[in-house]
Amino acid sequence: LSERLGGVFDRLTKQGALSEADVITALREVRVALLEADVSLPVARDFIKRVQEKATGSAVTKSITPGQMVVKIVHDELIRVLQGDGPADALKIDNSPATILMVGLQGSGKTTTTAKLAKRLKEKNGKRVLLASLDTQRPAAMEQLAILGTQIGVDSLPIVKGESAVQIAKRAKTQASLGGYDVLFLDTAGRLHIDEVLMDEIQAVRDIAAPRETLLVVDGLTGQDAVNVATEFEAQVGISGVVLTRMDGDGRGGAALSMRAVTGKPIRFVGLGEKMDAIEVFDAERVAGRILGMGDIVALVEKAQETFEAEQAERMARRFSKGLFNMNDLKMQLDQMLKMGGMQGLMGMLPGMAKHQAAAAEAGLDDKMLRRQIALINSMTKKERANPDLLQASRKKRIAQGAGLEVQELNRLLKQHKQMADMMKKMGKGGMMKNMIRQFM
Ligand code: GDP
Ligand code: MG
Repeated sequence: LSERLGGVFDRLTKQGALSEADVITALREVRVALLEADVSLPVARDFIKRVQEKATGSAVTKSITPGQMVVKIVHDELIRVLQGDGPADALKIDNSPATILMVGLQGSGKTTTTAKLAKRLKEKNGKRVLLASLDTQRPAAMEQLAILGTQIGVDSLPIVKGESAVQIAKRAKTQASLGGYDVLFLDTAGRLHIDEVLMDEIQAVRDIAAPRETLLVVDGLTGQDAVNVATEFEAQVGISGVVLTRMDGDGRGGAALSMRAVTGKPIRFVGLGEKMDAIEVFDAERVAGRILGMGDIVALVEKAQETFEAEQAERMARRFSKGLFNMNDLKMQLDQMLKMGGMQGLMGMLPGMAKHQAAAAEAGLDDKMLRRQIALINSMTKKERANPDLLQASRKKRIAQGAGLEVQELNRLLKQHKQMADMMKKMGKGGMMKNMIRQFM
């Protein structure tokens, strides 16, 4: 995608804000990339529409092309969709024994994933885990899970031939309680396609097992189909999350986006190989990069933004050292402070300041104050901002009223500005100014 976009964007070199035409040209390529990455058509269409709304009119940073800027916006939006409400939750295993029901089509990687997760819970969380295979369909399926269990040092339910899936589930529940296990995995049988018999069986097992989690295991390489499978399982069984397997292959992960967009269910883990350690918590950023195949451009855009800020800092430093520090400069600083997490955030970053935070809050040194000060400056005319000495009583009254605040507060702001301007002048004589401003940007 990078190369393809490169060609298109060479022509779009103008700076300023993204025009609608720029955005549309860039997004045409992004749309193709999404489809190539196996994102389903309606999801891609919907996604592009949202990005278009966001991108049109956004400021383009100097030294990157509008196309690169669009890609950055696309990337961020991908992460937002993939991530949903937040980072993937840990598995809910609070009640003992907590049952985790594993469902999915045949060959999707249920049995492998069951063992991988069991190993993780044992090693990372120190949990006692019991494995039970309910796969009465495939020959040797039960033995497969038992062998993996032995390999990772996790117990599995003894195999009794001739039982139904529901009977095994009951026995497993009993065994898990009696044996004092923390977590019970029920690994179900899959089918090549979704069929009624399979769904009936899983529903019956679900009703008996009352699982804390129902994880749908989906082959990440199947793209479009994965979405249909997820929709169907969600409708008929109800799932709490998805595990995408075979993300070590050369599939591009578009299934993740479609599935997230269509079912709204969080992707919890990704399988990255056949080995028992080859599983990771889902990382939206990584998958977004993979879908676009262009981590480099995103990094470039971020770098360009930093450079832009550094240039701004230098320009400010030059002004200050000449004794120029007007209300525009102050406003820029106040904005910057808010952006960095406000007063509380700034103080939190300074060593030894944590204990002063409460005192500062009490003295009214908080974000609200920053916002009030910005409102005051906004309410000044261009001339007044450039030259605060102009401000006599009537102007002050007008400004304060415009910001919905008292004149007293404006006086406080002016005093603060004067102190800062004096300090800037003094410091400007030395060379440390630039570095200091840089640190605050
Ligand atoms: P099940 O039918 O859903 O239980 O699927 P299995 O767990 O038996 O897995 C089917 C095949 O896929 C096995 O050969 C696994 O080793 C392989 N497999 C499972 N997960 C992954 C993965 O994340 N990456 C790769 N490369 N192979 C996997
Ligand atoms: Mg299996």
